[in-house]
Amino acid sequence: MHEMAIMQNILEIINTQIKEYNLKKISNVKIVAGELTGVVPEIMEFCWQVCTENTPCAGAKLEIEKLPARALCRECSHEYDFLEKLSCPRCGGGIKKVLSGKELYVNFIEGE
Ligand SMILES: [Zn+2]
Repeated sequence: MHEMAIMQNILEIINTQIKEYNLKKISNVKIVAGELTGVVPEIMEFCWQVCTENTPCAGAKLEIEKLPARALCRECSHEYDFLEKLSCPRCGGGIKKVLSGKELYVNFIEGE
C-alpha cells in the first residue's frame, strides 16, 4: 500500500523529533500532502492508527492538509488547477511549471 510506505517515512520523521525534544506523548500531527501525491486522507488515517499503536503517537490527532495541483501557463502566466484541465483554461497553453501538488511533509508535531 502506497500510504503505508508514506506513513513509515512520516513516522521516522516524527520519531526523530520525539528523540530530539524528549517528548513522551504526541497529541497533534499535521501533514501537508499535495494532490499529485495521490494520498487518500481516509487511508492515511487508517495507517496512522495501525502504525502508532503502542507508540508515543497512539491516540494523537492526525490532520491532513491537501494542497491543490496548481500549474503556471507558459503562454499567459495564468495559474490554474491542472487536475481538471491539462491546458490553460484562459488561453489553452501548456504548463510551464508545476507550482504545487507534489508536497508531502510533516507540517507540525505537538506533544509534551
Ligand atoms: Zn494561459
